[in-house]
Amino acid sequence: MSTTNYSFFGAVEQSFDKAAAFTKWDKGILEQIKQCNSVYQMRFPVKMDDGSIEVIEAYRVQHSQHKSPCKGGIRFSEEVNQDEVMALASLMTYKCAIVNVPFGGAKGGIKINPRNHTAYELEKITRRYTSELVKKNFIGPGIDVPAPDYGTGEREMAWIVDTYASLRPGEIDAAGCVTGKPITQGGVRGRREATGLGVFYGIREVCNMPEVMSKLGLTTGVEGKRVVVQGIGNVGYHTAKFFRENGAKIIAISEHDGAVFNPEGLHEDELIEFRKKTGSIVNFPGATTITNTTDALELDCDILIPAALENVINGDNAPRIKAKIIGEAANGPLTPDADEVFAAKGVLVVPDMFLNAGGVTVSYFEWLKNLSHVRYGRLEKRFTENLNTNILGQMEFLSGKKVKKEHRDIITHGPDEVDLVYSGLEETMITAVNEVMDCWKQNPSIPDMRTAAYVVAINKVATSYVELGIFP
Ligand code: GLU
Repeated sequence: MSTTNYSFFGAVEQSFDKAAAFTKWDKGILEQIKQCNSVYQMRFPVKMDDGSIEVIEAYRVQHSQHKSPCKGGIRFSEEVNQDEVMALASLMTYKCAIVNVPFGGAKGGIKINPRNHTAYELEKITRRYTSELVKKNFIGPGIDVPAPDYGTGEREMAWIVDTYASLRPGEIDAAGCVTGKPITQGGVRGRREATGLGVFYGIREVCNMPEVMSKLGLTTGVEGKRVVVQGIGNVGYHTAKFFRENGAKIIAISEHDGAVFNPEGLHEDELIEFRKKTGSIVNFPGATTITNTTDALELDCDILIPAALENVINGDNAPRIKAKIIGEAANGPLTPDADEVFAAKGVLVVPDMFLNAGGVTVSYFEWLKNLSHVRYGRLEKRFTENLNTNILGQMEFLSGKKVKKEHRDIITHGPDEVDLVYSGLEETMITAVNEVMDCWKQNPSIPDMRTAAYVVAINKVATSYVELGIFP
């Protein structure tokens, strides 16, 4: 779907410049923010299962060190190139700034199709990549902390932490060198669904704003909204799940090989089960199979969620899109041309740069947990349980009555890790949406929500640069 000569980084620069015009920062500071600080392009050989040697092309880009460490996922995809990784690293800087997560932006990519490799080959590629990052000081809990992205997940993060820990024996904070790890390896509960949940919290907040919804000709609230999700990977799956569980109708889901439509609503788990059996979502019983490009994206719906790759909605197809709200769960799914079309049509685009920040927000919780060497919830739970059981005992002694079982459970039960993560994420997303909306309201000549989000991000990053001063 991607156009060959499209520059994703160029698009990010264009959106940045559009927003910079609404700020008062010095030209030099703006230029420093916009550029990528370090770009590491590497090639390394890996011996495949059949004995052949493949030379792998990979990247790690650190966009900004105004806060340390740098943070951002690692993508496994055949489309990976330097321009893409630079764009994604830049978006990480702005994303972290908006949600007040104290990291600089980074991103990594390995140019492979994971479907063409065995698990053993993928493990060797991941470990060798990690060792290259260690050699050049491009990874570490205080330097640069990768995470999952398109084509990677908990398994790859476990290989990364294991490789890092073997190469840095005795480093007490080694677990914090990567996030998105399995729970058993220092991961945090709620990280897997974090991006999708954040997308849901963000859009729900927008849907709860009566003035915004009435302008769009929609009723307030998520309930009953017709949603189309493009891409049913980790982010798309969880986004669909939280919208459905909260009363929205997922009327279509699209994938790389086709899409399915049911105006009565689809259930993401049934679709995944079907794909497990058949290898594709196409021909899912009870739904109409449609094309994944025109049909699915251009369906009549209230909310469209692109949740796969960049550059899927551009100047060509944007005029035909009927959604009233577009929630960018993916990074960069819309081109600057598409933004112009939607601003003119009055479609609300809720931009990637904070809408999909749930992943990095919960990564931050995981990193904090790793550095503090605790498990969220447990200490607190034990503490509150003991304390509350004591108080309960005294109450019962003094009143001569037994507290009812259901009340006893509520009083003695402290928060679980997942409750802490969800509530932290919810608060983060609500604050971010409101901060961006407030910026937009304060300056009505800002054309769209993306530009308002960039203004918020630029102001925070620039403040940081100015306060720190320039070395030497
Ligand atoms: N890859 C995710 C993103 O694009 C998560 C990054 C992270 O957790 O560091 O936001």
